[in-house]
Amino acid sequence: MTESVHSHVFIIGSGPAGWTAAIYAARAGLAPTVATGLETGGQLTKTGEVDNWPGDVDGVDGTALMDRMAAHAKRFGTRVVADEILSVDFTRRPFVLRGSSASYTADAVIVATGASARWLGLPSETAFRGKGVSACATCDGFFYRKKAVAVIGGGSSAISEAIFLSKIASTVHLVHRRDQFRAEAIETERIRKLESEGKIVLHMEREVSEILGDASGVTGLRLRNPKTGETEELKTDGVFIAIGHTPNTRIFKDALELDQGYIATGRFEGGRTATSVPGVFAAGDVQDPVYAQAITSAASGCAAALDAERWLAKNGF
Ligand code: FAD
Ligand code: NAP
Repeated sequence: MTESVHSHVFIIGSGPAGWTAAIYAARAGLAPTVATGLETGGQLTKTGEVDNWPGDVDGVDGTALMDRMAAHAKRFGTRVVADEILSVDFTRRPFVLRGSSASYTADAVIVATGASARWLGLPSETAFRGKGVSACATCDGFFYRKKAVAVIGGGSSAISEAIFLSKIASTVHLVHRRDQFRAEAIETERIRKLESEGKIVLHMEREVSEILGDASGVTGLRLRNPKTGETEELKTDGVFIAIGHTPNTRIFKDALELDQGYIATGRFEGGRTATSVPGVFAAGDVQDPVYAQAITSAASGCAAALDAERWLAKNGF
């Protein structure tokens, strides 16, 4: 472990919130450091098609968009460390952050650790993870060329995974536990169109009770109708779980006030992104149970940098 490196502003996370906070903090002369974490670029690097980023009229690849944000932050002198923060001490000044490869101190911290994919919690899901069970079509879809796959979920993630896989797999089974999708109408319409073209098969009001497989990996799913209790088997070579996300707040549970697992903001002095600890701000999905979009994450990253800048000036840093 190397000696502690001090930063005026330390940003944890390299998704849209983290890079936007870095652009604003760097342009304000605050010489920020960004710790990228294990997923440089964040969740958007898992999608090939971002269709609602303003200005990218024809859509943009998620990784390409995040690479542009990183380059933008670096252009103004943002220091980037490829490190994961393992623990924080917000009771001391300067704040202390311990990473897997170094220790850091900072006058102000912006938490932008986003959210991670949720799992069904079945023992068979754990057993076949990496052997046919995945939470990322952009990462693993390639392995299912001309094969049958299933996507589980009824929100925007499930729909975008199903649409992506419909261009690769022979058949995409979309399995949702209710009779209504949670995703936006425009996304649902696309699914209905793909269903009418025979590219996607919908299995509404079906829960996965077991993932079936053998030494070669996943071979199928056992589905259950939650209303009747009836079960059926569905043949598939792979299954993509897309049932939402959990905020990445584990390392902050004793350091910051949380609200249903998300970092609490908007109720403390120091601006809309202020947390329960003065000088620590939070932006993006880690504090947003409602909107969870790239643009709203970027916007709150901007707000966090502005809040941090004002707080540092007010407190004589
Ligand atoms: P994230 O993107 O989740 O990034 C979190 C960052 O924090 C990562 O870099 C991670 O490495 C880092 N991190 C986590 N823990 C630590 C730690 N301990 N130490 C250091 N770093 C850490 N939104 C749209 O607006 N349009 C879309 O088309 C769209 N498509 C999507 C498709 C998919 C498949 C998914 C999963 C999401 C999609 N979203 C879309 C939602 C969007 O990606 C998120 O709302 C957005 O990425 C959240 O940004 P964020 O910066 O808050 O966090
Ligand atoms: P979400 O909106 O919370 O949807 C999760 C889906 O999974 C719901 O349909 C839910 O069913 C289902 N589900 C949850 N737990 C389940 C379980 N244990 N078993 C079976 N099904 C389960 O999550 P998301 O789709 O990841 O979207 C999160 C946020 O990211 C949203 O704000 C979304 O708009 C955004 N996002 C946007 C895009 C885009 O703009 N293109 C793409 C991806 C994500 P119920 O409906 O029954 O609750």
